[in-house]
Amino acid sequence: LRNDKLDQWDRENFFHPSTHLAQHARGEAPNRIIETASGVHIEDRDGNKLLDAFAGLYCVNVGYGRQEIADAIAEQAKKLAYYHAYVGHGTEASITLSKMILDRAPDNMSKVYFGLGGSDANETNIKLVWYYNNILGRPQKKKIISRWRGYHGSGLMTGSLTGLELFHKKFDLPFDNVLHTEAPYYFRRPDVNMSEADFVAHCAAELEALIAREGADTIAAFIGEPAMGTGGLVPPSAGYWDAIQPILKKHDILLIADEVVTGFGRLGSMFGSGHYGIEADIITIAKGLTSAYAPLSGSIISNRVWDVLMKGTDETGPIGHGWTYSAHPIGAAAAIANLKLVDSLGLVSNAGETGAYLKQALTEAIGDHPSVGEIRGEGLLIAAEFVEDRETRTFFDPSRKIGPALATALIQNGVIARAMPQGDILGFAPPLCLTKEEADIIAAAVKNAVTTVLG
Ligand code: PLP
Repeated sequence: LRNDKLDQWDRENFFHPSTHLAQHARGEAPNRIIETASGVHIEDRDGNKLLDAFAGLYCVNVGYGRQEIADAIAEQAKKLAYYHAYVGHGTEASITLSKMILDRAPDNMSKVYFGLGGSDANETNIKLVWYYNNILGRPQKKKIISRWRGYHGSGLMTGSLTGLELFHKKFDLPFDNVLHTEAPYYFRRPDVNMSEADFVAHCAAELEALIAREGADTIAAFIGEPAMGTGGLVPPSAGYWDAIQPILKKHDILLIADEVVTGFGRLGSMFGSGHYGIEADIITIAKGLTSAYAPLSGSIISNRVWDVLMKGTDETGPIGHGWTYSAHPIGAAAAIANLKLVDSLGLVSNAGETGAYLKQALTEAIGDHPSVGEIRGEGLLIAAEFVEDRETRTFFDPSRKIGPALATALIQNGVIARAMPQGDILGFAPPLCLTKEEADIIAAAVKNAVTTVLG
């Protein structure tokens, strides 16, 4: 990678998100400046072509370089680049898209509120939940339960909901009205001898105890990703959602399914909610909605919540919540073209089939390696977790940075996976158009990288 004017301007001017700022400013890690992309490959300006097995940030679900989406964006920009959605205004694109989303969403869903990214959509959700309880005359029912390792965004409230230490420390988060409970992460169960069923019962008991301690009349909602993403790419333990939902119902706690990663096919089902039998009151969508061709997110609101919100506006006047760019027509046009491609290319079923194939290929490539603790996943959301000793499930000392070393070695083998932020975990979430041949290429590269780093 070269070191020229652009690199210098980058270091001097550009505040990169989720980056070690001091190391970047000192030029300790090379910049990779991406220039073009097509299918599942990205290419940097130095001519390195890499297979992107993380679809950007698990968002470019239809793959790169789709002419249909580029054309839809260009046509919309020429016809009507922008108009707002306040006080009943709309555009053909945003209205059509609402209908397309509701057609795909679970039956109990009623309306879509549009935002720009997953974080602001979850901020919207919490405001709506609070408004809902105020309208129902129970202003004390406001706390939100999230899970350790859950990821729900980087804002003040959403950063609080996120259950990863890095997003809290030195930011004075989480807020007091956010509570965290155990995640259904069986590999990291507190006692190695616990069966999966016992572990699920343990998660449910933790939740019950938390609710009892705080008082159900103080708790408004529970938020969770159907299958966990950033916290480690963890499909829930079998029976988890069936165990959790009756507890929430019993205590009249709303359920927010954060489907920013799982929405629109990643698990091999249109929504993770359908995949795991989750009946949510609100569903968060973003990433796969536009495959990241333009920023757009949404909060899908159930009939139950909608009815109360409507009643509320008779009391309060127009709902006091709006973004300038809510339902941006260019984002909506991108999403319409994207969802049509998801359908016409059969990407939901491909995610299921090729996902199972990739998981198997990874298992054959590295499953017997003594440092591979677990290969897990559902659809095209797959992780390999590495440990120092798999018999005793001893984790590597984090200071050894095994995960990042593996990701770097993998890039040297032509493939991008993500070193997940907590634990030595390589995450694979490629575009949903991945082929079996490309899955084989990923598995072979992973095998080489593991041999290089771990012997
Ligand atoms: N929720 C989940 C489950 C996510 O994975 C993410 C981002 O990765 C977010 C919310 C936040 O979305 P954004 O980064 O678009 O604000």
